[in-house]
Amino acid sequence: MIAISEIFGPTIQGEGALIGMPTVFVRTGGCDFRCSWCDTLYAVEPRFRADWQSMSAAAIMAEVNRLSGGTPILVTLSGGNPALQPLDPLLQLGHQQGHSFAMETQGSRAQTWFGQLDHLTLSPKPPSSGMPFRRERFDACLAAAGVATQVSLKLVIADETDYQWAKALADGYPQLPLYLQPCNTAPATPEQPERETDLAALNSQLRWLVERVTTDRWYRPRILPQLHVLIWNNERGV
Ligand code: SF4
Repeated sequence: MIAISEIFGPTIQGEGALIGMPTVFVRTGGCDFRCSWCDTLYAVEPRFRADWQSMSAAAIMAEVNRLSGGTPILVTLSGGNPALQPLDPLLQLGHQQGHSFAMETQGSRAQTWFGQLDHLTLSPKPPSSGMPFRRERFDACLAAAGVATQVSLKLVIADETDYQWAKALADGYPQLPLYLQPCNTAPATPEQPERETDLAALNSQLRWLVERVTTDRWYRPRILPQLHVLIWNNERGV
């Protein structure tokens, strides 16, 4: 069984390599990290476990098909950390039904079924998160994805320390498509669900990041905003 925090859509992917793609989100419950600026604490902390549902692969795909109208769609597996869940039966069933799968994880836990994903976004967390980067675990995730899965690297940047960390990390993985995005350091929380994102602050952070990259003559990364935040701010379930 799979711990599910929420299933919603169809909407669009707001981040990374698949930005703008229509998708249904399947958000799993539970995470091995506690990032200082996590914007999905309701899918992370055990105190919200009562809100999560234990679902079979068949029940999840039934809900995906209900939402997609039965038309095959990109299913985005998010969390929490979806790599903590036994997702191989879901991938097998969903593929049989014509769907494709993308997943985002911080790269702290490798699973053999990574190779069944169509897309894998590895998003290790920068120093501002307060979480460590363990290269051997990240490398295990890359190895598990193999050659059939499209893998990309997405790094969130809050400040100069994060930027320098991201640059050094990305240099170690020149084969991976690279996406940078500014960090929303004051997201809505379960205690403050109505807190609106300061879009002006995010925009100036985005401009800083573009200027930082171009000043460095670092032409490899693509710099992206969080599209869903621009459209819906902090609204949940879109
Ligand atoms: S890894 Fe993601 S879901 Fe887990 S605490 Fe960090 S930001 Fe939240």
